[in-house]
Order: sequence, then structure tokens, then C-alpha cells
Amino acid sequence: MLKEILSKASCAECRLCCVFDRYDVWETPLFEAETMGKVAAAVPDAKFAKKGGGFVLNSGEITDGELFSCPALTENGCMLGDDKPFDCRIWPFRIMKSGEGRVIAVSSLCSAVYGQSHDDLRDFLKEGLAKKIFAYADKFPEAVHELYNNYSVLLSENEL
Ligand code: SF4
Repeated sequence: MLKEILSKASCAECRLCCVFDRYDVWETPLFEAETMGKVAAAVPDAKFAKKGGGFVLNSGEITDGELFSCPALTENGCMLGDDKPFDCRIWPFRIMKSGEGRVIAVSSLCSAVYGQSHDDLRDFLKEGLAKKIFAYADKFPEAVHELYNNYSVLLSENEL
């Protein structure tokens, strides 16, 4: 979904978005039932909890300095390939709540995307991805998080 603005090579070198600490564990993706089933079959220790119409990872308690890797992460990258959760396919974009409305924001943790012109990123979103993101959020409102401090707002829903 992001191949126009983010190369597979950049992602393969990084994987930052698949490993979490106690402060960003809220960033773990929402899994649809089928995708969750694939991970659970391959990694029997993986723990999930129901959240709305999907499932989230149950990381248990994470102490300061400890890291939690998504169970779908392998030495060769994500085991789910093109079937990875929608949240992962659009990251570092996220749909978030800001004030009364929903916005699409970009995480500063992904330097490969965040470092690009934000005007260009807005144009890219308006070409079609923004509508898909808001449609996904209509279906899975539990995927919408409060605006977080390392995210910059690119687009609000009423700008479409
Ligand atoms: S599902 Fe795949 S892409 Fe998403 S966080 Fe887990 S390993 Fe990373």
C-alpha cells in the first residue's frame, strides 16, 4: 500500500514497527480473526485478546527496558507477507482521534517516511489511501487511537 513512498528494503532493514516497549505497546496491530488464526497456528505461545471486531496481542506486563516482539515477526520478516494486518500495511500512518474528529497522522519513528515532505504525503493520501483508511476505521473503530505525541497530523476527515 505504501510502495510508492516506502521501499521493501527500508522496511527489511528496520523492523522497528514490529517490536514494542512498555510505552508503545499500544501500537501493536489489530488482527482480523483469520490473520490471528494464522499466527496462533504458527506460534502456539502467542496470546491474543478480543477487542471489538478484532483481536490484539496480549503482551503481558513489560518492564522498563524490556522489548516485546510481535509473534508474527521471524528472522525473514513478517510471516504474514501481504496478509499482514491493515494497521501494519499502512504504518507509519495511523488513524487517530483529535478533538472531535478523526485524522490521519504519521509517526516520527519511521524516518524513511516522516522525513519526506508532509505536503507530498498529504497528496499521496488524498490519491486514495485516505478513503481506504477511514473506511477501515468505520469497520473497526477499535483501531482508532487518541493522537499520540510522536505523531504529526497530516489530514483530517473533513479535508477529503
Ligand atoms: S503482524 Fe507482521 S508487520 Fe505487523 S507487527 Fe507483527 S510482524 Fe510486524
